[in-house]
Amino acid sequence: MTQTIALQINNPFSNQLKKGYPLISKDAVDARHLPKEEGALLRLTDVHNRFIGTGYFGLQNKGIGWVLTTDANENIDKAYFIKKFKKAIQNREAFFNDPHTTAFRIFNGEGDGIGGLTIDFYDSYYMVSWYSAGIYSFKETVYEALAETVNYKAIYEKKRFDTKGQYMEQDDFVMGTPGEFPIIVTENSMNYAVNLNDGAMTGIFLDQREVRLAIRERFAEGKNMLNTFSYTGAFSVAAALGGAVKTTSVDVAKRSLAKTIEQFSVNSIDYESQDIKVMDVFNYFKYAQRHNLKFDLVVLDPPSFARTKERTFSTAKDYPKLLVDTIAITEKNGIIVASTNNASFGMKKFKSFIDQAFKETKTRYKIVEEYNLPKDFRASREYPEFNYLKVVFIEKLN
Ligand code: SAH
Repeated sequence: MTQTIALQINNPFSNQLKKGYPLISKDAVDARHLPKEEGALLRLTDVHNRFIGTGYFGLQNKGIGWVLTTDANENIDKAYFIKKFKKAIQNREAFFNDPHTTAFRIFNGEGDGIGGLTIDFYDSYYMVSWYSAGIYSFKETVYEALAETVNYKAIYEKKRFDTKGQYMEQDDFVMGTPGEFPIIVTENSMNYAVNLNDGAMTGIFLDQREVRLAIRERFAEGKNMLNTFSYTGAFSVAAALGGAVKTTSVDVAKRSLAKTIEQFSVNSIDYESQDIKVMDVFNYFKYAQRHNLKFDLVVLDPPSFARTKERTFSTAKDYPKLLVDTIAITEKNGIIVASTNNASFGMKKFKSFIDQAFKETKTRYKIVEEYNLPKDFRASREYPEFNYLKVVFIEKLN
């Protein structure tokens, strides 16, 4: 039985929560009053003891928990989760009805009313991601609710919180008939190989769907493309299908070679006519400069933080430097697709990084397209801090 405890929210946070802000920040509460176990339900009140909402206690870097409902009479039970899932699926009807796309997000955490929980759809396989031990304590009820709401081949899960080293041994399979991986999903008629039972990532980042489409439709034809931090080469596939004369994919992880060959192959692209380099991007920049290589289209989509043998990298600190190196190997009138999923800064700051890098290199530029999260990654307009994705297509003018 889930425990419920009363918790007072300090000013001015209580006003924020009353207006619908979903996150309980750690400064909003007196830490001494927090329950021992994550997963406890919190009956949230203001300093005058007036009811604000019911939330749960779950530690994430963003806060100590999330508001689940502001209705004092609503219980957090199977019916609650079913209601949320049905609503979320209703909102994505257009995705379910689109025969050209079979992979998308059906539940996006706080954007769909439950922070710390996301669910992705991969052609009738479901991937549930849990972002704290707190929300994970509701797993039985959540899986019952999900199983009653959708027709699934199988449900898989990823625990995206510290499990004290247990993660590696875990099998991500939850229920149904286990899939034979990779399965092939389609996205705007492009194929992508996906594995739901092989570590933290599945082979494709669904939040970049619109960017892949833009690259294929408007930026690839006849172009020589460089894809840095390429992972499985999803952007390279989009460029090749869009008519790029050649793609070069660079990623330091050894697995990226086989995974990129696989993504090309499931799209009937001859991978031998493409370049796939297992290499540190920063070394590749030097290599490209030494050999006078230049590209018409460069995708820059680094992880927020990365540590290799040689260096640690953080987009919040090092993005301008990354852009300076990129500008040096981009042709005049070439396009740089600058992307970051770092939630610690917004679009304005990101654009200031872009401006800084171009100023430093005395290069003029023009922003030609911009992207945030796509519609299935539902994020409230009022709280842009949860819309972590920032992608800017920049033309290098001289
Ligand atoms: N752009 C990719 C996703 C990138 S995930 C896509 O759209 O699918 C981040 C990738 O960066 C990982 O595959 C990781 O191996 C790679 N990476 C991290 N540090 C790197 C470095 N210094 N050089 C090259 N690749 C790096």
